[in-house]
Amino acid sequence: MAEDTRLTPQSEDFSAWYNEIVQQAELAGHSPVRGCMVIRPYGYRIWELMQADLDARFKRTGHQNAYFPLFLPLSALEKEAEHVEGFAPETAVVTRGGGKELEEPLVVRPTSEAIIWPIVADWIQSYRDLPMLLNQWANVVRWELRTRPFLRTTEFLWQEGHTAHATAEEALEETRSMLGVYRAFMEETMAMPVVTGEKTPGERFAGAERTFATEALMRDNRALQAGTSHYLGQNFARAFEVQFQTEEGEHDYVFNTSWGVSTRLVGGLIMTHGDDQGLVVPPRLAPHQVVVVPIWKDEDQRVLVLEAAERLRSVLAGELRVHVDARDTLNPGAKFYEWERKGVPLRVEIGPRDVARQQVVAVRRFTPEGEERKRFLGEAEAIAVLPRLVDAIQAELRDAARQRREAHSVRGLDDYGTFRERMEGEGGFVYAGWCGSEACEAKAKEDTGATIRVLPDEEFRSDPSPGRCLVCGEAAAAEALWARAY
Ligand SMILES: [Zn+2]
Repeated sequence: MAEDTRLTPQSEDFSAWYNEIVQQAELAGHSPVRGCMVIRPYGYRIWELMQADLDARFKRTGHQNAYFPLFLPLSALEKEAEHVEGFAPETAVVTRGGGKELEEPLVVRPTSEAIIWPIVADWIQSYRDLPMLLNQWANVVRWELRTRPFLRTTEFLWQEGHTAHATAEEALEETRSMLGVYRAFMEETMAMPVVTGEKTPGERFAGAERTFATEALMRDNRALQAGTSHYLGQNFARAFEVQFQTEEGEHDYVFNTSWGVSTRLVGGLIMTHGDDQGLVVPPRLAPHQVVVVPIWKDEDQRVLVLEAAERLRSVLAGELRVHVDARDTLNPGAKFYEWERKGVPLRVEIGPRDVARQQVVAVRRFTPEGEERKRFLGEAEAIAVLPRLVDAIQAELRDAARQRREAHSVRGLDDYGTFRERMEGEGGFVYAGWCGSEACEAKAKEDTGATIRVLPDEEFRSDPSPGRCLVCGEAAAAEALWARAY
């Protein structure tokens, strides 16, 4: 990475800034196929850390991983009417294989409800086999016309949870509970605060009865739908004949849910924390939480500082992910620059004078107001302080993101003209009334590009709730969270 590589400031062109970060922090690269993405090792490591954290949460809530095929027969996708209508425009269909026309075209999965349920139907006989709590880590394909790395790609990586329950109440509780799991992950691990709530009928998953989502506010004041959780009712169970014997000995269809998050979360991380110097990775997801940069001028010094660096790394290794940057092809300044751009939470510098004084210099990537960016720590002190500092940075990033979101959220706005101006200008979250009509939702989208992200859950709602629809001025049926979104 060249030191003079310029990064466009966020305020100048956020979209250019984003694309440059993805390249310069070595997160992803282009593929020969338009709309597909190569995830480079540094970006993939962030995704792996996300996966590991989420997977542990799924297992703690009783889910098991399985793997289902990449292809499904076109006829299977067509069984649930709304599902096929929603997904048909973006499916990739294979018509030839092994040099021959296929008898039946195969769809590359855009999501796996239509693969999983015909198979799992045979695993479920009675209420004793329920709930069935499955998750799959996989890639899916949705033929996107406009793509951006991580945010919208034709092929992406994700997890998809698929569950079956004996009652509607249980399935709805699962839908809600997984939304909560996503929220906890996003806030605790990604340091990305989210608003949870329900999608309007027009924004539901194709085939779902209810869709819930987590919405985050990016640094350009646009919303990102970060995760979704769907209550499918018995729609898919009826389409794929997933029946079970009830406790009373009768037959009924199961109630299903599905829920997913994808590599889009990496995009969310970039746009929640990154700044004009580059990426900022929250410590829990940082491939390296601490990078030690030894500084030397001659061979004697090199041996001395590398020894001190290695000593620190080995003592901290059980607690922190520490990397010693011992490259002799780059000067320390270039290393500082590179790790700053890659968003490493803490840099530790060790020069010959530091070794003599038995100290190190710790430099933060993110420094909230009132904190020192740079600290001198005794060697023994560093061992105790660095893990605490890493934890503190995690919390500070979350607090800063929450403060920024709140500073760009308005409540009780009831003038449509002001709303239009705001959406054309600074953007952000607007909490305002909605009468419940699709026409008003469509008009706002047409006029401003803003959509109803969710009807927020109670804890996010304003008190008192706004009484009038932002668009038509009629009595509001609910409070809605409006924003322009990715
Ligand atoms: Zn209205």
